[in-house]
Amino acid sequence: MTIAFIGLGNMGAPMSALLVGAGHVVRGFDLSEPARQALVSAGGTAASSLEDALRDASTVILMLPNSDVVERVVTEAEFAPDSVVIDMSSSEPLRTRALAASLQQRGVTLVDAPVSGGVARARTGELTIMTGGTPPDLARVEPILACLGTTVRAGEVGAGHAVKALNNLMSATHLLVTSEAMLAGERFGLDPAVMLSIFNSSSGRSGSTENKWPNFILPETYDSGFGLRLMLKDMRIAAGLAAEMGTPDPLGGAAVGLWAQAAEVLDAGADHTEIVNWLRKD
Ligand code: NAD
Repeated sequence: MTIAFIGLGNMGAPMSALLVGAGHVVRGFDLSEPARQALVSAGGTAASSLEDALRDASTVILMLPNSDVVERVVTEAEFAPDSVVIDMSSSEPLRTRALAASLQQRGVTLVDAPVSGGVARARTGELTIMTGGTPPDLARVEPILACLGTTVRAGEVGAGHAVKALNNLMSATHLLVTSEAMLAGERFGLDPAVMLSIFNSSSGRSGSTENKWPNFILPETYDSGFGLRLMLKDMRIAAGLAAEMGTPDPLGGAAVGLWAQAAEVLDAGADHTEIVNWLRKD
């Protein structure tokens, strides 16, 4: 069974390589030639176009930047009859629902399966995969997703995308306030490594104290592989969801505004962990 894998970037590259390693036939497409070549080096096949990638593929995985790109690709695509599309990108939940309904008219099933764990866990197949779809549709794709991580069903189609955006709003807000605390502590004369070890056995602990600060910020590598603008996109999806649902988000809304300010001054390719450098400049 051929899997078409569209979007071979920071996440799509290690994920498609894992599927090849698990014995699947993977035909990938990306606008970037180096990204296509990386799949070939991993043992997959590079398609010359979207159409070429989709030929005879009953399963199509999308790992694209956002809903705009997902919709553009899906609209342009000629899917094989009865195929299933797994949108693993962090897309917009309400747009995902609408897309699933329009694909159903074309005889194609859409499920959403966005991920958490970053590039490191994409490489090891230890992603958390939050899925949205009917139980039978999700059972159909489970053997493929199991190669990439652990799946948790969030609910009906779009539910995975909703919980993913909410997760990232929390994660970005944690990172910002952790960075504020770390800068204040450093200025006070505390050792950053000692602060982190205390936070990690105390109630201020989060993914920012356990992973982002020790692995990407303290060593000053800022190479998590997750762009600052992609994080801002997810935060805006979550804030949009709160607005649609009419729920309050005074803190999340403020965090979106602060990350948007950072995005205006940091380089286009800035990693999301560089938010601390925006604070330092401020
Ligand atoms: P990326 O920018 O590294 O990769 C996206 C890829 O899509 C690029 O290689 C780009 O060339 C390709 N692309 C864009 N338009 C295309 C088109 N029309 N046809 C084919 N290819 C196209 O992004 P990423 O970091 O891999 O993230 C992908 C998705 O996963 C995003 O929605 C992101 O929010 C989400 N995500 C990222 C991480 C992370 O740590 N990087 C973690 C979880 C979720």
